[in-house]
Amino acid sequence: MTNLIQEFNIMRDDLDYKFFLNGEWKVSSSGIKIPIKNPYNNDLVGYIQACTKEEVNQAVKNAKENIECWENTPIKKRAEILKNAANLMNQWANYLGELLMKENGKPLNSAISEIKRTALIFDATAEAKSELIGTTMTGDIMEGASKEKISITYRVPLGVVLCIGPFNYPFNLTGSKIAPALLAGNTVVMKPPTEGSITASHFGVILQKAGVPSGVFNIITGRGSEIGDFLISHPEINMINFTGSSETGKHLAKIAGMKPLLLELGGKDAAIVLNDADINNTVKSIVSGAFSYNGQRCTAVKRVLPMPDIADILIEKVVEETKKLTIGDPSQNRNIGPLINSKQCDYVQELIADAIKKGAEVKYGNKREGNIIWPTILDKVTTDMRIAWEEQFGPIVPFIRVKTIEEAIEISNKSEYGLQGMIFTNNIDLALNIAQELDVGTIQINGQSSRGPDHFPFIGTKASGMGTQGIKYSILNMSRPKVVVMNLSEKGKLIRFCNQ
Ligand code: NAP
Repeated sequence: MTNLIQEFNIMRDDLDYKFFLNGEWKVSSSGIKIPIKNPYNNDLVGYIQACTKEEVNQAVKNAKENIECWENTPIKKRAEILKNAANLMNQWANYLGELLMKENGKPLNSAISEIKRTALIFDATAEAKSELIGTTMTGDIMEGASKEKISITYRVPLGVVLCIGPFNYPFNLTGSKIAPALLAGNTVVMKPPTEGSITASHFGVILQKAGVPSGVFNIITGRGSEIGDFLISHPEINMINFTGSSETGKHLAKIAGMKPLLLELGGKDAAIVLNDADINNTVKSIVSGAFSYNGQRCTAVKRVLPMPDIADILIEKVVEETKKLTIGDPSQNRNIGPLINSKQCDYVQELIADAIKKGAEVKYGNKREGNIIWPTILDKVTTDMRIAWEEQFGPIVPFIRVKTIEEAIEISNKSEYGLQGMIFTNNIDLALNIAQELDVGTIQINGQSSRGPDHFPFIGTKASGMGTQGIKYSILNMSRPKVVVMNLSEKGKLIRFCNQ
């Protein structure tokens, strides 16, 4: 283990982490370092560099200059390198997981799982290399075109891809962009979330050691509010793959110009619970879905819409189950830990206060210590309350009691978001009919909303996103067909046609 960790010393001087340019670790000429503190105990985890625009330019330039060399590296070789990277992530999972736990306050086991899940994505992306195989077509299926017109279509990279991830899965949700981008032959500039930069920057060491040539993968650190617009609007960036809030995503779409975008944004996933639902499974799904990583998940259960006959018992059992959650230190794997920062805690408390003022009943929670908000269950939430519509990104589960299925569908669809939806019932025919009515990317029947398995398509409608992710879909979206058409001459034709 000691030897392995020593490999990472190259990227830092004590607690000062560097950024990664053309295969080298650098200190920014800005002279500005951003402190990253543990949200649980406020301990300093390290400093990251606040890169300048000139350094951004340099990263993009390196990536651009290396497109040809990387594109000409055989797909099989690129896939092998991704597999090497997956192996390294697995070897270093405990070390990286501990760092992530400190940086983001994620329970240690979940943080380690995040690293291992990323290794699985790299591995599965390498396995999916045949998605890049091209096709050949003859023209004679269309009126007016003949067999002598033959298209040869192969997939080519888009160029320099900018990968930006969110704080809640800084390793996994940048990794899920980097792997398909590299497999498809693109070069990459990664801008990790500030809170998560230290862990995500380890991709520099991992990919270099795995065999990615210098300049193919570059890392720029610094606040999105300071360098983000410059990066997004940079003329040499050819594609952007972004995960973050809908607010940032909408802003980015406005300034990105004609660049292709893949956007994974916010959500307000609603669980519709019908009277005949399996109560134990529903309670388990709601508690895990609402409170894992303190509700800081795009696909957390963010609203529950129970029908009249099940509402009372459902809420009672959700409270009972929630009381079993442990609260405190992420290094001790407590179920509930700190939110990412105190500003987010203030926001969550504001939503709770607004709901209480307008008549919601607190069934459990509504307590804060430092950056920890107790898991909070709100009953009798109504549609005039902010918590009915705003993405809480914290451990609150609001119950909006409904009288009919139609009302549940209406409230689900009225949201500006459209990430996932859930239906809990034993009537599968009815569930499928409700699923047809919900304007979301994915509907879970009898299960909590969640991203993955990572080869499933992952889509957000409305303010929840643009484009489809998932291993195969990401590879296709981060490459494009290139078509060469052969126009054969009639003269050399040997083929004989059937008699008329
Ligand atoms: P965020 O504040 O929008 O930040 C996301 C990323 O964008 C960060 O790396 C941030 O950098 C960067 N950024 C900020 N301003 C930018 C700009 N002007 N140009 C370019 N980049 C900029 O979101 P977050 O708080 O990290 O993440 C939580 C949100 O992400 C929630 O809404 C959640 O639902 C959503 N999310 C969605 C999915 C999904 O798959 N649909 C998955 C996870 C999370 P800094 O950190 O330096 O500000």
